[in-house]
Amino acid sequence: MIRDLLTGLQITAKYIFRRPITFEYPEEKPIIPPRWRGRIVLTSDPDGEERCVACYLCQAVCPVQCIDLQATHRPDGRRVAAKFDINFARCIFCGFCEEACPTYAIQLTPDFEMSATERSSLLYHKEDLQISGTGKHPEYSFWKVSGVAIGGKDKGQGLNEEPPTNYRSNMP
Ligand code: SF4
Ligand code: SF4
Repeated sequence: MIRDLLTGLQITAKYIFRRPITFEYPEEKPIIPPRWRGRIVLTSDPDGEERCVACYLCQAVCPVQCIDLQATHRPDGRRVAAKFDINFARCIFCGFCEEACPTYAIQLTPDFEMSATERSSLLYHKEDLQISGTGKHPEYSFWKVSGVAIGGKDKGQGLNEEPPTNYRSNMP
């Protein structure tokens, strides 16, 4: 028994003068890796327009079905989400939605400070998720590279896009 006590004291003495490895959170913030999968945001194009085209892929891939969205079309032809909700009380931060998104709209961030005392406050709406920044893809703009005609851009006017072929000219 004395031997066990001495072993315990020996371990205590070994660590007593070392720097503590614990953080005095929240006064002292931990260093979070940039690829940490935390709070989800909906990013914007470099021109400030929303990136999400309401394709439902993130909703389809989500393993816990915590994304709920509804598509609509704007008068200028852009397809956007009229409604985009994420229930963070169910989200497991797997990142599948970010992987599936074809426009880099939905992105996970290193922000982990989302605790709440009421479950209902973990239901985030589009206005809570949308940010004006571009996130991890500062140059990308889906509407500039897509072949979809929208207000101010006709078919064939996208980046690296050829004008549409006149199929009648191919007829014999
Ligand atoms: S991180 Fe995973 S669980 Fe959370 S919304 Fe995205 S797909 Fe769903
Ligand atoms: S966030 Fe991405 S995957 Fe989800 S609906 Fe919008 S464009 Fe599609």
